Amino acid sequence: MAGSGIPQTTIEILRKYDFHIQKKYGQNFLVDTGVLDRIVEAAEIGREDCVLEIGPGLGTMTRCLAERAGRVAAVEIDRNLIPILEETLSGYDNITLINNDILKVDLDGIAGEMNGGRPVKVVANLPYYITTPIIMKLLESRAPLQSITVMVQKEVADRMQAGPGTKDYGALSLAVQYYARPEIVASVPPNCFIPRPNVESAVIRLTGYREPPVQVRDEAEFFALIRAAFNQRRKTLTNALCNAQGLHIPKERTAQALCRLGLEPTVRGEALTLEQFAALAEELQERQCGSQEPIS
Ligand code: SAM
Repeated sequence: MAGSGIPQTTIEILRKYDFHIQKKYGQNFLVDTGVLDRIVEAAEIGREDCVLEIGPGLGTMTRCLAERAGRVAAVEIDRNLIPILEETLSGYDNITLINNDILKVDLDGIAGEMNGGRPVKVVANLPYYITTPIIMKLLESRAPLQSITVMVQKEVADRMQAGPGTKDYGALSLAVQYYARPEIVASVPPNCFIPRPNVESAVIRLTGYREPPVQVRDEAEFFALIRAAFNQRRKTLTNALCNAQGLHIPKERTAQALCRLGLEPTVRGEALTLEQFAALAEELQERQCGSQEPIS
């Protein structure tokens, strides 16, 4: 039974343990060995690596990872999967199972305990109902993460990789691209999973920057500005920032800041690059310091 991701093996495990798939946990088990290999290959796992897997499920990918990596820490929320994992992974002595919600675990603590604080590689077939919170936790935690190679909904992967002026470009694109370089490495159809999800999937690799590509004074304010710009993405930036709850930046102030940056007062947020958003945040901040008007 061990060592295979083929559909038959998965069905046998589900039957043997009378396991009922939990939709609420986004359980779509990967059953295509070609895709498994592609993920592990894209993550460039070697014996020197410590891997953090989010949601090991039945352990199909965990086994692939354990065969290549030095150590694997696998965080699974569903306690009913733990006895199954303990049995299916019993042949490996380099796997640590953690029964917890990934949104609640201390990532720094895991990197410290598992890898002496050295960078860890994250690899996962993510549960789609909380993809964005997981990605943002990984990126914002500042825990030592070397790379993040994950299966996500294709639409979300497209949004992470999108650039200005495209329909997929938004707050998620900018947040991800502030921390990491995204690269979609594979498209994955629904028939690679049991049960089949209703959406197409993609594998994306995020390689973390040592330093963000732009300097901002206050990250929280910077991201509040970006969220406000895209909350009403069809509006001009001057209107969107004026209407935004908690910001209420007067239209003239945004228009003047845009003018100093060589941008039209009618520009929409979706046209600005990460660098231009950083410059706009800086301009608005400077004006605020000069005029003593609070941004928020
Ligand atoms: N890795 C397995 C595979 O590829 O077949 C399972 C992937 S399945 C898409 C997502 C897995 O994440 C499930 O095992 C699910 O129980 C687990 N999961 C869901 N929410 C979680 C959370 N908040 N923290 C940790 N694991 C979670």
